[in-house]
Amino acid sequence: TREGVPVRNVTARVAPLGSRLVLALVEDRTRERRVEAVRRDFVANVSHELKTPVGALRLLAEAVHEASDDPEAVERFADRMLTESDRLSKLVQQIIELSRLQADAPLDAPVAVDLDEVVQVAVDTSKIDAEDKRISVIVHGTEGLEVFGNEGQVMAAVSNLVANAVSYSEPDSTVLVTTKADDGTVEISVVDQGIGIPAGELDRIFERFYRVDPARHRSTGGTGLGLSIVKHVAATHGGEVRVWSAEGQGSTFTLTLPQHHAHERQMQEESP
Ligand code: ADP
Repeated sequence: TREGVPVRNVTARVAPLGSRLVLALVEDRTRERRVEAVRRDFVANVSHELKTPVGALRLLAEAVHEASDDPEAVERFADRMLTESDRLSKLVQQIIELSRLQADAPLDAPVAVDLDEVVQVAVDTSKIDAEDKRISVIVHGTEGLEVFGNEGQVMAAVSNLVANAVSYSEPDSTVLVTTKADDGTVEISVVDQGIGIPAGELDRIFERFYRVDPARHRSTGGTGLGLSIVKHVAATHGGEVRVWSAEGQGSTFTLTLPQHHAHERQMQEESP
């Protein structure tokens, strides 16, 4: 069959004029197969990740039944059911978000996105968790910047970075969010003084469902999807995300996205 034939042989056997076409077809099929493998992997991971909280909820519900004459135990189990169901709904929401973001797909009708508003929403979303740990979240930098992109996606990316910074920080510390423009791009940096990431894990943290030692921070209820959402948002915008981190010292995530310029706004308004 053709299945096992290396690309090299396939192209060598065709006439020179057609070789580029055949090579393109072979590359296309290889890409298709890779996409299919990633999709299958994703479905398998999703099923596995969903089974855990669903199973825990079932066990807890059974425990509530059995402990019906012990109000304290019932309350304890009910609290854990709340935690598990919050985790489950976050997981489902992120899975939906991630499957909407097709890697490398070009953006549909990008618009001017108000970065100040995005940062404000991201900070507000993490407010309760930050207050619980007495973490101050400080916003600093250039105001009035606009990203050229998709508002929902940019919002999801920045919110995930701020939420992580708060989750992986020690109590009474500071998280700094800075914004600046640089040569046609805007840079959003989120700096924390948290637990940091071991050097050997840095290139894996953007993978779907990857968590650095889940036992280390089980209480944060992470899904392992946040950073892969950030990575996909960067890719669909033609931007990038970089990380600097040192264990025990903190982390800095920098997201670079295309800047929207005032003259582009004028052109958008003028076009029908
Ligand atoms: P999660 O939902 O687990 O936070 P992410 O994809 O957002 O998933 O992050 C993947 C892993 O990277 C996390 O589990 C955590 O171990 C690590 N990580 C992400 N952000 C930070 C940070 N600001 N400080 C320390 N570790 C982080």
